[in-house]
Amino acid sequence: MKVVKFGGSSVASAEQFNKVANIILSDSERRVVVVSAPGKRNDQDIKTTDLLISLAKTVTSTGYDEESLEKVVQRYEDITSELLLDKSLINQIRENLLQIIESYKDNEDRLMDGLKASGEDNNAKLMAEYLNKLGHEAHYVSPKEAGMMVTDQPGKARILPEAYDRLSQLRERSGILVIPGFFGYSNKGHVVTFPRGGSDITGSIVAAGVEATEYENFTDVDSIYSVNPKLIDHPNEIKELTYREMRELAYSGFSVFHDEALQPVVRKKIPVVVKNTNHPEAPGTRIVAEREINGYPVVGIASDEGFCSINITKYLMNREIGFGRHLLEILEDENISFEHTPSGIDNISVIVRQHHLENGKEERVLHRIRTELLVDDVQVERDLAMVMVVGEGMAKTVGIASKATTALGEAEVNIKMINQGSSEVSMMFGVESYKVDLAVKNLYHAFFTK
Ligand code: ASP
Repeated sequence: MKVVKFGGSSVASAEQFNKVANIILSDSERRVVVVSAPGKRNDQDIKTTDLLISLAKTVTSTGYDEESLEKVVQRYEDITSELLLDKSLINQIRENLLQIIESYKDNEDRLMDGLKASGEDNNAKLMAEYLNKLGHEAHYVSPKEAGMMVTDQPGKARILPEAYDRLSQLRERSGILVIPGFFGYSNKGHVVTFPRGGSDITGSIVAAGVEATEYENFTDVDSIYSVNPKLIDHPNEIKELTYREMRELAYSGFSVFHDEALQPVVRKKIPVVVKNTNHPEAPGTRIVAEREINGYPVVGIASDEGFCSINITKYLMNREIGFGRHLLEILEDENISFEHTPSGIDNISVIVRQHHLENGKEERVLHRIRTELLVDDVQVERDLAMVMVVGEGMAKTVGIASKATTALGEAEVNIKMINQGSSEVSMMFGVESYKVDLAVKNLYHAFFTK
């Protein structure tokens, strides 16, 4: 049994629905299908999820707005009319949206989650209808019925461990099961969404629940590339990646697969295959537990921006027991997660995502560090980017760091920070944001073209 997930662009129009149906029906093992909301049909288009977010914001700020609602309905109408599906489906979608607005108009967070989730929910219903119309047994299965039980944090749901047992019962059901991605239900009975791009997470959880032989993730690229194709023409296509490599690449900007989506499949060692809905014959990229290391020690180079570094100096910091704990406690109190903590003898830096320090938090955090830890100096360095060189083969290869630093030196990129974890599966360089693309390009040439 395979679980197949289709991303937003794969289910954005009637033409795409048709491709998706062909893909599902061409392999009888594709029994569980997870769909996103209709995504962009072209570069200028707006994702349904974004239309729903605007609708929720409008309702919260100025009340119900028919025009915003009809923009959402129109996305589904375009699909149903071309596929000649029953017109009553569109009324049902409109009713569904109105009902969500009515139930939650006084609760901003629930309204937002309810409307966001409806994007995938209504699309899953249409997909099941379409498969039926083509003469196949298919059922829409709501996340509630499926057992997708999640924590009650709007926009940040996490799966509850007990969900997996419930999900495993999907194996007993007949026909093709179509499940909407992106949300689950909390024990209080509320709809709660995963973070943006979270249909990948649903697919992965369902794949783990039913112990699928494979989790196929259909998107709009032939494979995962070794570098962002916007930076390098025709970059190397990755045939196979380990879970650890994918985790590192997803963390640092590879958006093909959501970084929270790996954990469920890793535990059950279910292979993930990233494939292209518009070119399903291409083999795609397989993400597996272990792979053979071919000639290349590095598999990919990624980067992500929007970091800052809190740089702290205090003489004899190395002998002060509890300094690190107290520092991190301050961040914990302020609800700030940290990314890395490179340190020297008398200094330590904490790298955090810049947005965590907005709305007065920066002043508060710095004040607390100064007064509670009695440091000699604390400064925030902004606009940093992290560049990640990733590959299982690096652990056994001498000279990776020197090759990387030479490439960065040749590009005149100043390295602010270097970090290599004990697993040696990645090496990270902190650089100034405005130099990040140059850094990535030069590293790519050093490891892949030279
Ligand atoms: N539709 C949601 C989003 O745009 C979730 C997804 O597509 O995975 O974020």
